[in-house]
Amino acid sequence: MDEDGVCRRCGERLVCIDIDPSETEDFAKSLAALASQREVKADFLGFQEWLERNGPFDAVIDAANVGLYNQKNFSLFQLNSVVNGMRQMSRSNKLPLIVLHSRRVKSGPADAPNNKKLIESWRRAGTLYATPPGSNDDWYWLYAAVSCRSLVVTNDEMRDHLFQLLGTSFFPRWKEKHQVRLTFSRRGPAFHMPPPYSRVIQESEGGSWHIPTLTGDDIEAPRQWICATRNTIRASSRPPLRLSQVGW
Ligand SMILES: [Zn+2]
Repeated sequence: MDEDGVCRRCGERLVCIDIDPSETEDFAKSLAALASQREVKADFLGFQEWLERNGPFDAVIDAANVGLYNQKNFSLFQLNSVVNGMRQMSRSNKLPLIVLHSRRVKSGPADAPNNKKLIESWRRAGTLYATPPGSNDDWYWLYAAVSCRSLVVTNDEMRDHLFQLLGTSFFPRWKEKHQVRLTFSRRGPAFHMPPPYSRVIQESEGGSWHIPTLTGDDIEAPRQWICATRNTIRASSRPPLRLSQVGW
């Protein structure tokens, strides 16, 4: 498959299954209800109000994950490179929402003078939300991204206990369409945007079938698809399906 989801073997395009906006709204509501049970209710309510005042955002950053990715110590420099990269990609040139636990805002690398300035500038711009002591920041960035219908930047595979509470009917589809993942090189961050097609078994207009064979989250591994086509399709005798693997 190429990046647009066109099969290199049969030339057919993979389809994109859209998410119904009302489904997203329902999911945001159930997410808020769950988060209010698991977190200190007043804290989460305070965040919802803050988001009403300061949002919406085009993108939300899981800042702990981004700042720690491939780093021993939390790196505000790395986080800032991702914040700026997302701003450049935003149509409105708006800064993304940075969700970060308060302990990372108050101590450690945040104490360095340059980092203090950076954090202060994000605060003044209304783009940093420091989640309160004792909170699980995953609830906060996830709720913000779902309710703003925005992208979320994280390499978190979203498989731990919290995400398992969200069920399998809507959340995996939402994640596929909204998660931006990152790799880093000397030139800075590379953004891996959600694909413009859906990774599900599907039949294309011309009658080929495409079947994803890898459902893992490894950014570097090419996703393999099986392309099943018939050379000619006749009513009386259907030739057997031909199977071939196509790299992403
Ligand atoms: Zn094909």
